[in-house]
Amino acid sequence: MALIVQKYGGTSVGSPERIKAVAERVKRWKEKGNDVVVVVSAMSGETNRLTALMDEVNANGSNRERDVVLATGEQVTIGLLSMALAAVDCPAISYTGGQVKILTDNAYSKARIQEIDDKPIKKDLQAGKVVIVAGFQGVDEQGNITTLGRGGSDTTAVALAVALKADECQIYTDVDGVYTTDPRVVPEASHIPSLALEEMLEMASQGSKVLQIRAVEFAYKYDMPIRVLSSFDDDDNAKSTLVTREEDIMEKVMVRGIAFNRDEAQLTISGVPDKPGVAIKILEPISDANIEVDMIVQNIGSDKTTDFTFTVHRNDYQQAKQILEGVSESLNARECSGDDRIAKVSIVGVGMRSHAGVASKMFKALADEGINIRMISTSEIKVSVVIDEKYLELATRTLHEVFDMASGTSAT
Ligand code: ASP
Ligand code: MG
Repeated sequence: MALIVQKYGGTSVGSPERIKAVAERVKRWKEKGNDVVVVVSAMSGETNRLTALMDEVNANGSNRERDVVLATGEQVTIGLLSMALAAVDCPAISYTGGQVKILTDNAYSKARIQEIDDKPIKKDLQAGKVVIVAGFQGVDEQGNITTLGRGGSDTTAVALAVALKADECQIYTDVDGVYTTDPRVVPEASHIPSLALEEMLEMASQGSKVLQIRAVEFAYKYDMPIRVLSSFDDDDNAKSTLVTREEDIMEKVMVRGIAFNRDEAQLTISGVPDKPGVAIKILEPISDANIEVDMIVQNIGSDKTTDFTFTVHRNDYQQAKQILEGVSESLNARECSGDDRIAKVSIVGVGMRSHAGVASKMFKALADEGINIRMISTSEIKVSVVIDEKYLELATRTLHEVFDMASGTSAT
């Protein structure tokens, strides 16, 4: 007997039929003798609908009130699923985040979970009930409703799994797991049966959209295995992806996956003085404007000046550029330029730790296709390059082939 937390995303609960199908699945897991806690998202499209509604009434409404509205989506689903379970004679009880309670900080629209009271849930489980919890929401110390940011139900599920010391956190979605890259770009992308939490963390931070990054951070920190699976396949033993501890991975490969991200823009300030304190003068006003910086590259100085390049989210490009123009003037820089038609492609794999030459193989493959690399950054298990956006598909396809990923195993 195991304690399992299952999370069902928006498409998995997108209609009365889908909700009934989820109830059937939950009941099957329960009848196999498991304790089951279920986290649900809002029905698909609902969070967008609520957002549009708010924008129509007052696009500048306070984040507190926006969270009050946004949290209703999940509240509908928990009640409906509980009723669907009752209809198939499976006792269940639903809770909002505040009822559990899932305590968060008060950063509306991007709150972080601080504490979860697991006692009421445990009591219900002991009484033989399925416990259904609204994803994506919590309450702060004062009892204000908060939400965790888009995709936040994944984080609720993992945090609950950690708090309850669950055996596994199952994330049900509309795909049957994690693929070597996005199959819409590379049709030969292959299904990954298992990968390391650390690899998933890099993939999510480099643009893979399968799991919310905060959820993976949580799972990585607490060693909580996540299984990604499709709620559209009624076979409980269908294909899935297990994201788990590195030592539990069966297959050793050099490159596990290729992630990409088109949401970045590049800014360069050239001819700035090569002396202490310049980097902070450039980046401080950017961070004061709450703009997050991803990659940073500074050249070796020559003739007492240097060039400084960094990337930001594309949505922040115009604002960042404006700020940089101001900085450029005060630093007496030669030039300030930028480009928002760039993309970042990353190869990820724990196997890189023990294999030399992964980066050079990547660079050669891109060179052979005539793709210019603008920026490079690496970690122990990742190599990222920034290239022109128009080459993104070509680069991803090329790397997928060069690292022999279609077969499911990577070249060594
Ligand atoms: N309903 C929220 C969203 O659409 C949270 C979630 O689905 O995870 O982002
Ligand atoms: Mg989601």
